[in-house]
Amino acid sequence: MNYRTTRITTRAVTNAFSALVIAFCLTGSLSQNVHAATAQDNMPVGRKAVAISDGQYPGSYFPNTELLGPAEMRITCLGSGMPNLTRKSASLSYLVELGNGDKFLFDVGAGSMANLWSLRPDFSKIDKVFASHLHTDHVGDFMGLHIGSWLSGRYTPIHIYGPSGSTPEMGTKAFVDGMKKGYAWDIAGRSGALPDAGGEIVVHEFDYKAVNQVVYQENGVTIRSWPAIHLLDGPVSYSLEWQGLKYVFGGDTYPNKWYIKHAAGADIASHEAFLPPKALAKYFGWSLGQATFVSTRIHTEPQAFGKVMSAVKPRLAVGYHSVQSPENNAAIMDAVRKTYDGPLALARDLMVINLTKENINVRMASVDDYVLPPDVSKAYVSATRSGQKHASDYITGGKWKGYTPPPMPKK
Ligand SMILES: [Zn+2]
Ligand SMILES: [Zn+2]
Repeated sequence: MNYRTTRITTRAVTNAFSALVIAFCLTGSLSQNVHAATAQDNMPVGRKAVAISDGQYPGSYFPNTELLGPAEMRITCLGSGMPNLTRKSASLSYLVELGNGDKFLFDVGAGSMANLWSLRPDFSKIDKVFASHLHTDHVGDFMGLHIGSWLSGRYTPIHIYGPSGSTPEMGTKAFVDGMKKGYAWDIAGRSGALPDAGGEIVVHEFDYKAVNQVVYQENGVTIRSWPAIHLLDGPVSYSLEWQGLKYVFGGDTYPNKWYIKHAAGADIASHEAFLPPKALAKYFGWSLGQATFVSTRIHTEPQAFGKVMSAVKPRLAVGYHSVQSPENNAAIMDAVRKTYDGPLALARDLMVINLTKENINVRMASVDDYVLPPDVSKAYVSATRSGQKHASDYITGGKWKGYTPPPMPKK
C-alpha cells in the first residue's frame, strides 16, 4: 500500500477533542473527482443533494446534501463507546453507504440508533445488519432498529447476518428467536396494521470458525468474515469489498492472526482501541488488576492496536471502543503513537469518512437534536396488510363514557 497516492483531509474538529482525528496530508496528485449522480436515496421534502467536485468536501457533513460518487464509500460511526452509555458515546455501530445505493450496518449497539435516525436516512435501503457478536454494546438496538425502521420507510424484511456459537443457543438465530419471543406483544400489536413484509426478520447465521468466508455477495459487494478472539467462541470480524475498495470492521477482539492476514491492504481498517488499563480502572472503579485483565486479555489496548495497524498498514486506521473524555483520548493517543505512526482516526459518534481511490476525507456530521424521522412513502400506503388486531371486548368495554374522541377525518 502506497501512502503517497492517498490524500487524507480532516476538518471541523475544533474543540477540546481535536486530537481525536489525526490526519496525514500526504503528497500525491489529486485526480479529477467529479461525482456523477448514482442510485439516489429518497430525500426528505425540501432537500436536494449535490455532487462533490474535486474532493472538496464541506467542513461538516450535512446529511442528505451530498451525492456519493459511483465508486465512493461513506462510513459513518454511529457509536464508538462502551456498554455503559454516555450521551456522546453510544455503543458500537457503523453505517456503510455505497455509491450504488446499498447501505449496510455493522453492529447496532445500544443507543447507536438515535445517531442513525439523526441522519434521516432512506430507511427503505437500511435492511442489512452484520453483527460481530451478541454483546448488548453490539446488538442492543437491533429490535429498536427493526421496529423503528418498519415505521420509517422500510416495508421489506430486515436481514441480520451473524455468527453461530459453540452451541445453537449461543448463535445469532437463537438471539433473534429470543428477541421475537420477548417482543411478541409489540410485534403482534403492529403486525397487520403496518406493512406485513416489513415485520419479517431474516436471519443469515454462518459458521463463526470459517476464515475469510464470503457471507454476503450481491450487487458487486462482497462481505467476508473471520474469527475474533473475545471471551467465548462466536465473535467475528468482517471485511466489505466493492469497486476495489476495502473496509474492515473488527468488532471486539484480542489481536489475532486472522485480522493481521485478512485486514492487510484494507483502505479503512477499523479495530478496537480499548481504554488502557489505568483509564479503565478509573472509569469503572476497578482494581488495576481487573482493568489490566479486561483491557489486555479480553480486548485490545491502544498500544496493541498500534502494533496491529503497523502490521496491517491500512490507508486509514480507525480505533474505537472507548469512553470519550479529553484525558482518556490523550491516554489512548499517546499509547497508540508508541507503536504506530501511520494515518489514524479515533472514532467519535457521528464521525464521517468519505473514501475513494484518490481520497480519504474525515470530518464530523452536523445534525440537529430534533431531526424528524422520514415521512412514510407511497409504498407505505400501497403495501399489503393483513389487518389490525384489537383488544378484547372486556378491555374496550372499560372506555370511559365521559370522553368521546373527535370524528375521524373524511378520506
Ligand atoms: Zn464484546
Ligand atoms: Zn464491545
